[in-house]
Amino acid sequence: MSALPFDQRDGFIWMNGNLAAWKEAKLHVLSHGLHYASCVFEGERAYGGRIFKSAEHSERFRASAELLDFEIPYSVAELDRAKQLVVDKNNLPNCYVRPIAWRGSETMAVAAQNSTINIAIAVWDWPSMFDIEQKMQGIRLDIADYRRPDPMTAPARAKAAGLYMICTISKHRAERRGYADAIMLDWQGRVAECTGANIFFTAKGAIHTPIADCFLDGITRRTVIDLARRRGIEVIERRIMPEELSGLEECFISGTGAEVTPVSEAGAYKFTPGAISRAMIDDYSAEVRPKQKAA
Ligand code: PMP
Repeated sequence: MSALPFDQRDGFIWMNGNLAAWKEAKLHVLSHGLHYASCVFEGERAYGGRIFKSAEHSERFRASAELLDFEIPYSVAELDRAKQLVVDKNNLPNCYVRPIAWRGSETMAVAAQNSTINIAIAVWDWPSMFDIEQKMQGIRLDIADYRRPDPMTAPARAKAAGLYMICTISKHRAERRGYADAIMLDWQGRVAECTGANIFFTAKGAIHTPIADCFLDGITRRTVIDLARRRGIEVIERRIMPEELSGLEECFISGTGAEVTPVSEAGAYKFTPGAISRAMIDDYSAEVRPKQKAA
């Protein structure tokens, strides 16, 4: 994988309807999206040349913008076509896909009703962790100080740039303390999610996961719930308090980037990655592969 900074790579980035040379895909320093966080984005992965659940991501992208009071000027079908074009043109059949939308430079004040809405789509290489034995060791999680905000305080269910401020701070703190990531509680002190992934636990053969009422309802999260139910595993969405973690057995996180990654430790609590985590890793990796059409 290239260690080049992201603005110095080669390839094509789709910007406002056209493919631009990677290094030319720039925005002005006076952009509303940068100053006032009027910016939403998506994170997706292509496997074998096809973007997994592309339309669901495009729908969420449009819904996030609506929560921030702006409209993405492309339909789901147009976004899906543009994303596929970027995957194809960059010749990256297995990659991460990043659509982003932001208010432009017409107005530099809190109110920016008539600013243009800019859209870009970039893709890059982001290998999945394939070594299953290494994966089954589990990652270690810190407990973040910041909490996911009350939906009365922020558009908590949008994938909005502004909501990542507390994620970056929390992840940096976790890394400095030797952890891979951090569990964030919500505004009521319940277990919510990690800084860029959702979280699951197991007890007595069932899966328990927080209700996604004040944080991002991950597309991987929904996929995992569906896969588990298809296997006949009971999935219970409920309020989970941090003190309860001592009674839970396995723990894993889910997200486009993380896919399904087991957890061995969260703060003072220990988990043992086991059969359910393994089954979800296997089912998820089978699910994301493009289906072979019958001849
Ligand atoms: N929560 C947060 C804060 C995230 O950034 C992500 C990654 N997009 C997720 C959850 C998981 O979402 P998804 O499964 O749709 O990638």
